[in-house]
Amino acid sequence: MTTTLLLNRCHYPVTALGPGVRAGIWVQGCTIACPGCVAVDTWAATPEAAVGVDAVMGWLSTLDGPVDGVTISGGEPFQQPQAVGALIREIRDWAGPGRLDVLVYSGYSLSRLRSRTHLSALVDLCDAVVTGPYVRARPDGGWLRGSSNQVLTPLTALGRERYGAESVEATRSGEPEAPLKAPRMQVSVEGGRVRMIGVPRRGDLDRAAEELRRAGIEIEGASWWS
Ligand code: SF4
Repeated sequence: MTTTLLLNRCHYPVTALGPGVRAGIWVQGCTIACPGCVAVDTWAATPEAAVGVDAVMGWLSTLDGPVDGVTISGGEPFQQPQAVGALIREIRDWAGPGRLDVLVYSGYSLSRLRSRTHLSALVDLCDAVVTGPYVRARPDGGWLRGSSNQVLTPLTALGRERYGAESVEATRSGEPEAPLKAPRMQVSVEGGRVRMIGVPRRGDLDRAAEELRRAGIEIEGASWWS
């Protein structure tokens, strides 16, 4: 029987959450509840959001275009480590070695993830992780990070090549630069809903809403208005 994953959504192509052209997978369920989170629609861990890992792989393996990497966000991927681990192993089997990188977001610190054996094992499956809660009171975090306390940690040779820092300390002291032309945000329209993908700077989403309002488009039910 296939492992099931609480899934919020999948999207392709994603260009604002890591290098290259990527597949984005957002899981459903997060109890961390950071004030100011832009994804409050992913907080509830609803059983009806469960899908088989094989269904996600079916989507991924039939994408019509290049897949340089997969970004798994949420929601909190480390609150369903068995399912996310099964998914990453399937991705590795499908892609083969070194072809794509896997970047995973977590609201937990890396030291907390490393202190629990089953979570540390999931970290070891990733090429890079962005860890730490979103803290609204902190400044913007730079490429791929919403607040400056969050840390981008490459974990493999491919991760170091693509995410540009040798260690957690290097990431903290030497701000990794986004690849040229990598957008901070992208917009997609899916099923009548407008999706903002990426890591916005402070006020970006409210400024975008204001611009749309001026253009006569009113936003209702935005996920960042908690
Ligand atoms: S920012 Fe991430 S960890 Fe924090 S509440 Fe939102 S989904 Fe959860």
